[in-house]
Amino acid sequence: MNRLLRNQYLQAIGVDVWVSRHAAVDSVVAGVATPDAPASARGVVTPMDDPAAIAPATTWDSLRAEVRSCTKCPLHTTRTQGVFGVGNREAQWLVVGEAPGAEEDRRGEPFVGRAGHLLDAMLRAIGLNRANNVYIANVLKSRPPGNRDPKPEEVAACLPYLMRQIELLRPRVMLAVGRIAAQNLLATDVPLGRLRGKVHHFGEFNTPLIVTYHPAYLLRTPGDKRKAWEDLKFARSVFQGLNPT
Ligand code: URA
Repeated sequence: MNRLLRNQYLQAIGVDVWVSRHAAVDSVVAGVATPDAPASARGVVTPMDDPAAIAPATTWDSLRAEVRSCTKCPLHTTRTQGVFGVGNREAQWLVVGEAPGAEEDRRGEPFVGRAGHLLDAMLRAIGLNRANNVYIANVLKSRPPGNRDPKPEEVAACLPYLMRQIELLRPRVMLAVGRIAAQNLLATDVPLGRLRGKVHHFGEFNTPLIVTYHPAYLLRTPGDKRKAWEDLKFARSVFQGLNPT
């Protein structure tokens, strides 16, 4: 990726860019970019004409229907709808967040509020977007009232849905955004700061899993965006190591 483009990406996610005074390109700090992928382009499922390949899509759809009508925990009484996931069902990347917020609960899609816009900008910085090459899902499919942390019994009820999504997707790499996602996927209470910067492995396929900050945290603590950028570059290098060109 050329330097100008990279700096534009960093600018979009609000990371300060330091350049040598000899460099031709100046840097700026900016706010949060809005995603440029049209909503209509999201949730794309690759058309497949092989009849044998139609089965997984049907299973995706039935799982989605189950999630949307789930009553396994009391959150179904306060949510607007279950929020399943979004993105390419054949993506090699899976991003896992915490739980739907108010906007996601209203629209039925993960990460569509302010934090979602930042997440999109972060993903774009490493060549990913929800219309093409990444799938995005949450640990919890229903919004906890007031955006409180998920309760352990809610996670216990909901995590099997994420596990089934992972079984269908079989991602090559996973990115856990935020403490709740990271700790629940890795079944640990190690603080997020100590989970960053290493390759963890998830599930029966030992899928490489990288941990970074939640975009909502980064909106509150923009000084840590640079560290998030390091995490993203690290995740990209892990992925590239799996697919040497
Ligand atoms: N935060 C999350 O963790 N997930 C969403 O879908 C939205 C905000």
